[in-house]
Amino acid sequence: MNKRYMPGKHFLQLPGPSNVPDRILRAMDYPTIDHRGPDFPYLANACLNGMKTIFKTNSNVIIFPASGTGAWEAALVNTLNEGDLVLMVETGHFATLWKKMANKLGIKTEFLETDWRRGVEPEKLLDRLKNDIEGKIKAVCVVHNETSTGSTSRIKEVRNVMNLANHEALLMVDTISGLASMEYEHDDWGVDVTISGSQKGLMLPPGLSFNAISERAILTSKKSGMQRSYWDWEEQIEANKSGSFPYTPATNLLYGLKEAINMLHEEGLENVFKRHGRHAKATRAAVQAWGLEVLCQEEMDYSNVLTAVKLPDGHNADELRKIILENFNMSLGNGLSKLAGKVFRIGHLGDFNDLMLMGTLTGIEMGLSLAGVPHQKGGAARASEFLISN
Ligand SMILES: *Cc1c(COP(=O)(O)O)cnc(C)c1O
Repeated sequence: MNKRYMPGKHFLQLPGPSNVPDRILRAMDYPTIDHRGPDFPYLANACLNGMKTIFKTNSNVIIFPASGTGAWEAALVNTLNEGDLVLMVETGHFATLWKKMANKLGIKTEFLETDWRRGVEPEKLLDRLKNDIEGKIKAVCVVHNETSTGSTSRIKEVRNVMNLANHEALLMVDTISGLASMEYEHDDWGVDVTISGSQKGLMLPPGLSFNAISERAILTSKKSGMQRSYWDWEEQIEANKSGSFPYTPATNLLYGLKEAINMLHEEGLENVFKRHGRHAKATRAAVQAWGLEVLCQEEMDYSNVLTAVKLPDGHNADELRKIILENFNMSLGNGLSKLAGKVFRIGHLGDFNDLMLMGTLTGIEMGLSLAGVPHQKGGAARASEFLISN
């Protein structure tokens, strides 16, 4: 079958990859330069120092030419030893994948279960950490914004309970989909390793990922005995000192990253975060007006990045997504693993404004009608009223 041309702009309303703005596409549209030549360190330093202002850290940021999954692995193999015990929380699909990776690497995991409808419950962590009298737990690993469910975890409170329990474990946080969309403070929140990626709040194509690392994490890495080569922090830190990388970097993505950092500061990070919060609220107002259910059940944990919407029993979310794609040229996120077919996910992150949100919600409302999903009309209108008065 031939591919059919779909006129107009495609609405890529996944919770990542997010829409890549023209400014970033243009910024990458230059010849690749010599990464060992005299011009390269200017680019490298702009990116390495710029990312510190996004993670809010004075310590090191490492940039890998890799997907977010690679940066997960880097966090684990640089800090732990085989057989170490790590405490993780099953917030959803991504937390589960990270846990599986740890197990494959020979790390033992303890997985605090949830119903996939909330973020981390700090009180539960506190109980577990208090009971770890011998200090067997070497790291606490949590996902800041669980992209499979649309719930956010309160990282500052996670650090608070670790302090309350007087626990020595490292705190590692996946904010692959939270960074540059929601407030994040690597230093102030006392995070040891923060993991992120390029294709979500940073508005870039996939292909870059990051580790922000505390002094304590760097010290720990010097004693950690796990096998590592490509992911080794030490070689990165050494090369970065002179504005270079130990192997060929993704030069054109770095052009884009430099532009993304500039754009985020032009708008102002605080304004970026407020914009995401406002669009998330408008989206939930629409879902409520439709009479459908937001998957996340804990108001405090609502994500500003995406909203996962449950379909009534007997209706398949993938069928709805297909109808919306074919009729309105819009991609929505699917339900992952045990949520497959049960939810669709609306990404409202990255380079996004009021009219894009209205287009997204209107497309969903029309799709609900075409798919015969029982709902009340007026969700998009409700969102527009919210946007006008807020
Ligand atoms: C997207 C995402 C990942 C996976 O990132 P890849 O770039 O696909 O490897 C992991 N965790 C979270 C929370 C994500 O949103």
